[in-house]
Amino acid sequence: MSSFEFKTGKEFAVAMDECDPLKGFRERFFFPQAAGGRCVYLCGHSLGLQPRSARACIERELKDWADLGVEAHFRANNPWMPYHRLLTEQTAELVGAKPIEVVVMNSLTVNLHLMMASFYRPTRDRHKIVMERGAFPSDQYAVQSQIRFHGYDPATSLIELTPRPGESCLREEEIESLIEQTEGIALIMLGGVNYATGQAFDLERITRAGHKKGCVVGFDLAHAAGNLKLKLHEWNPDFAVWCSYKYLNGGPGCTAGCFVHERHARAWDLPRFAGWWGHDEQSRFEMGPKFQPIPGAEGWQLSNPSIVSLAVLRASMDLFREARMDRLRAKSELLTGYIEFLLSQTNTKRFSIITPHEKDRRGAQLSIRIEENGKALCEQLSREGIIGDWREPDTFRVAPVPLYNSFHDVFQFASRFIAAIG
Ligand SMILES: *Cc1c(COP(=O)(O)O)cnc(C)c1O
Repeated sequence: MSSFEFKTGKEFAVAMDECDPLKGFRERFFFPQAAGGRCVYLCGHSLGLQPRSARACIERELKDWADLGVEAHFRANNPWMPYHRLLTEQTAELVGAKPIEVVVMNSLTVNLHLMMASFYRPTRDRHKIVMERGAFPSDQYAVQSQIRFHGYDPATSLIELTPRPGESCLREEEIESLIEQTEGIALIMLGGVNYATGQAFDLERITRAGHKKGCVVGFDLAHAAGNLKLKLHEWNPDFAVWCSYKYLNGGPGCTAGCFVHERHARAWDLPRFAGWWGHDEQSRFEMGPKFQPIPGAEGWQLSNPSIVSLAVLRASMDLFREARMDRLRAKSELLTGYIEFLLSQTNTKRFSIITPHEKDRRGAQLSIRIEENGKALCEQLSREGIIGDWREPDTFRVAPVPLYNSFHDVFQFASRFIAAIG
């Protein structure tokens, strides 16, 4: 980033947008409006915008339902029975996995529980789970409840990685040394990008350290999927889960994703919570009593999925494929660096950026800690059409999303933020 010369004036933003190879994608999304114009929408880390193509994709499925009823399972334009497979290839590409390693199903927290049902197998000597302190609440509840479910106590079985006093982010080498020095860890379960600080972890290094110690390693990629370039197969964690409504723009509550490493594809002895959609397809409709899982991640499916939800996700995943993750990531690094640069032009001590400065340690997001009255400031900006989000007690999060945000968006945000903070 240091080699790139950002400039302060608005002309710079306009020139960057003009030569942006991805600029056309912005027009393929709906933007909320404010005061007669488009909002500066920097909230893709919370809910991605609606692709303009989503409605037609839903309507196609509604029409097949109207025209064909139950027969659409086999006779729709895209038959519903194997519909989830229409997403397999793109999903595998997106997270750097083999097709057999991924499936789109359920929602994120459900998938996290399903994965822990199979991969968190505590014993008296090895029952601990390592996670970040202040992880996303749903992950904390899921992990604590799994520990209790197995008859252990989070007070002794949960190890929370904590930044040094006065620091906001974790040091990679300290994560590694904690893993090396702690006995009895069953599972390491971290967010790929921490939702509050925006810190991206070195997933390969953490996986290696965990496996060396005989631990299972899983990741929650809610804030990493569609944000960072991921190579899950190569990095080798046991499992990963993510949602599809943040950077992946699948719409509120959209069907989530799940990765199970190929080496577990035929681990029939792994216990799992089963349902009919995970059963071998050839014999699924024989309705027999004995569960026979599909090899790979698909074997963890429970229920037949919401086709309407998958239809929207397809619309969005087609855009990702067209834009390409390498180009998105290159633009993303510039956009985030540009916000940081513009905010560094003021001398005020009223805010500080807690997200790491190094581009390999962060994704599209910057978390800004505001000393006083941050919430009111965030609300004021929102009334002016600048949409980020507030996280108690003191953090304003903004995410310039390379698929639909422009350099001019960033410029507008930074100018108004600096003006508002005074
Ligand atoms: C957004 C998010 C969730 C939300 O979970 P749902 O099951 O989709 O409601 C959970 N964990 C993390 C880390 C998240 O970022």
